[in-house]
Amino acid sequence: MIKLSSPEWFESAPCRGNDRTFFSSKPSQRKSAVKVCAGCTASAKCLDFAVTNKITIGVWGGKTGPELDRLVNS
Ligand code: SF4
Repeated sequence: MIKLSSPEWFESAPCRGNDRTFFSSKPSQRKSAVKVCAGCTASAKCLDFAVTNKITIGVWGGKTGPELDRLVNS
């Protein structure tokens, strides 16, 4: 299991406390999560964090798991 400390920018992120949407297996929920990311000021930092830490599950920086997987493994 990955255990990471929360970065500073995550403290005020609009996804906080919304794990069910951001880690859902339902496409409609993931779409909703991506829309939330579109309005997040930390999106670039979030995506960089996910790729740097090789996180490929959930929605991070507006990218879904398969998109993250491609970025991590490219
Ligand atoms: S980009 Fe999305 S997942 Fe990342 S902090 Fe913002 S709302 Fe959360």
